[in-house]
Amino acid sequence: MVGIVIVSHSRQLAEGVAELATQMTQGKAALAVAAGVNDPENPIGTDAVAIMTAIESVYHDEGVVVLMDLGSALLSTEMALELLDDEMRSRVFMSAAPLVEGTMAAVVAAAAGLSAQQVLQEAEAALEAKQDHLGMAATAAPLAVSSPTPASTGKLLRCAWRVANPHGLHTRPAAAIVGALAGLDAEVWLERDGQRVNARSLNSIAKLAVKLGDLIDFITSGPQADEAVAAFNTLTQGHFGEAHLLAEAAAEPNIEHDEQPVQAVPGAITGIAVNGGIARGPAVIFTAVMPAVPDRPYAGNEIESQTLAQACALVQQHLKQQAKGPQGDIFHAHGLMLADPELMDRVQQAIAQGLIAPAAWLSTMQQLAQEYAQADSHYMREREADVWDIARQVMCQLTGSGPQRLQLAEPSILLARDLMPSDVANLDKDNVVGLCLSEGAKTSHSAILARAMGIPAIVKAQGCQEQVQSGQEVILDGFNGLLWLAPDESTALVLETRRVEWLEQLQSQRQAAHQPAVTLNGRTVQILANIGGPEDVAAALAAGAEGVGLFRTEFLFQAHDTLPDEELQFQIYRDIAAAFGDNPLTIRSLDVGGDKPLAALPMPQEENPFLGLRGVRLCLAYPELLLTQLRAVLRAHAEQPNIQLMIPMIATVEEFRAVKALVEQARQALSLPLEPKLALGIMVEVPAAVLNAEVLAQEVDFFSIGTNDLTQYVMAADRGNSAVAALVNYHEPAVLKAIALTCQAALGAGIPVSMCGEMAGDTGATELLLHLGLTKLSASASMLPALKAQVRESHYIQEN
Ligand code: PEP
Ligand code: MG
Repeated sequence: MVGIVIVSHSRQLAEGVAELATQMTQGKAALAVAAGVNDPENPIGTDAVAIMTAIESVYHDEGVVVLMDLGSALLSTEMALELLDDEMRSRVFMSAAPLVEGTMAAVVAAAAGLSAQQVLQEAEAALEAKQDHLGMAATAAPLAVSSPTPASTGKLLRCAWRVANPHGLHTRPAAAIVGALAGLDAEVWLERDGQRVNARSLNSIAKLAVKLGDLIDFITSGPQADEAVAAFNTLTQGHFGEAHLLAEAAAEPNIEHDEQPVQAVPGAITGIAVNGGIARGPAVIFTAVMPAVPDRPYAGNEIESQTLAQACALVQQHLKQQAKGPQGDIFHAHGLMLADPELMDRVQQAIAQGLIAPAAWLSTMQQLAQEYAQADSHYMREREADVWDIARQVMCQLTGSGPQRLQLAEPSILLARDLMPSDVANLDKDNVVGLCLSEGAKTSHSAILARAMGIPAIVKAQGCQEQVQSGQEVILDGFNGLLWLAPDESTALVLETRRVEWLEQLQSQRQAAHQPAVTLNGRTVQILANIGGPEDVAAALAAGAEGVGLFRTEFLFQAHDTLPDEELQFQIYRDIAAAFGDNPLTIRSLDVGGDKPLAALPMPQEENPFLGLRGVRLCLAYPELLLTQLRAVLRAHAEQPNIQLMIPMIATVEEFRAVKALVEQARQALSLPLEPKLALGIMVEVPAAVLNAEVLAQEVDFFSIGTNDLTQYVMAADRGNSAVAALVNYHEPAVLKAIALTCQAALGAGIPVSMCGEMAGDTGATELLLHLGLTKLSASASMLPALKAQVRESHYIQEN
């Protein structure tokens, strides 16, 4: 390995540089220091003999590279060289590189096993990245990049990675890459935005200027290409040696810490699996479109300004939530952009000139987007897309725009950034055979909806929209969270075999879906469906649902521009209940707030919406809203006694009693008889309800455990924030204990207890849930056949 010598007038300076260099290579380089002179009065200077000794101490046949600070350091080094024998001298090279940058590049290159000439070349190009950054001309070239071609270099492996390092791939992570690839017999490149550099060159990597959130490709070829991919994968898992910085940056989470580690896989884009299965087909990229400016009269400066302010506040609220999740910095930045007083001034001026709020907003944002598009820097030009994103979100609020419909000609795999519930609800579901989102999270509502569609789905497949062409054939592996673009032959064969097996298994489960789910020891478990509206009923019935355990009525509210009135709600509730015959329909009263804003009812912005006016709290704060729903439920119940009502987010007995009083008030107002009684239950999803379950069990007719919220509140971990996703785990002992306590309280009071959170559909948890005492499980329709199959194979059940 090439030796490195640092020559400086100042010992402190040299030791500082050496310390940095040692850290950079984890001490792998042979490094010596010759600095200062042995004179306590005048320690600044250089000494030829000391330099010669330093050279000898790191001497190697590969050579020695000497880096110097300035002036007499060069003369002293030349003298030192004179003192060496001819053979040694011929292998010592003085570098003109700047001391700090040059030493870093040299030690990394030396530790990577490069030749003395390459080390020199790297050292001398060490100012490149800095010059580039400052917009100055480069003086030396880093190691050249040869363009790989499969023909000339054999198998070409490629894997992608989204950089989560807070400062991007700066010198230290770059050094880690060079170091990890050292000694491997393979050509290695890194690519960003089509720019490809040699991954053995610290300078070249630095010149790529990879920032937080950038997508990079690692490309390799040669006899040890597989080992190179493995080495790169190992590095990415440790975030290039900076995992500790990511943890520290948790306040601004940008990293993937979800339930399964994201690992770069050659030929595939990695994501998080949210629904199993394998699908094949052409990719269709869904991009949200801008709603049109409505044709309506000007309502005056004040009203238009208020309309705008309300729309912006709603979007701001949503962005604030997203800012806590993955890629949170993007949403935080969007929030800042939206709050920009100058932007608001411009829109206000347009309104003052007589434009209605949507027209004023759109024209201002168009101008702003144009300004960004014409900016000098690439980074600023890229922000144009952000402007459009914000513009669209506010336009949706301003126009109450209905969902966008996507008609597909053939079975396809849908790729999108994220989907709003209304987007999913309006998909051409028959032709969507797989779903791949670049955003989302495992328990976010978009993932829940994707699962409800019963198709393989993955989320957080970062870069999927950029890397895939519309129409390109892809394979989606919902078991492993992979979107395959170019699987090699053997992988493609394995995927196809699994796909066929999976389809056969689905087929046999579907055939048995209408049989009851009876455990091996003879207990029947009621399998119910979670639905979001009338459009889910057919699928639930087809999947063998024995009723509805959770009807999330908020989707009904969100799908309409205005609040659905009593009559509309009544008809929907009655018709769904009729479709299930004698089987129960559990209607959950409106559960908005938290991560589920309601466009038709703008709410004040909250600091902590999940701990704020959510679920029953919001309904009690707006009793008219709840009363409309209660009247509709009571009227439907009068015709369909299989309806029962469930209240979300109950924390106290008083909240339940307040709802009960409103139900009674509505019943009397409608002059409905006391019998048949409308069963009134609660969701157990707030820790306070668990701790007070015995008392609540005396008041209510049934419990249903909402593990999605229960987990987030027990673990104090936001269910949409991937930085704490490891904590949002319903297998945590504390969550299991909360479930057990709830079941015990229900069994003790003799009331039914079911579960309707995502855990209920997790076949890996079924046996445990039955053991804890649950005999009713409610999940998305697509999961029911498998859930029944699992119950039939389960042994345990609590006898009461
Ligand atoms: C839950 O919290 O588990 C639940 C079923 O409700 P949601 O996911 O709609 O909040
Ligand atoms: Mg909930």
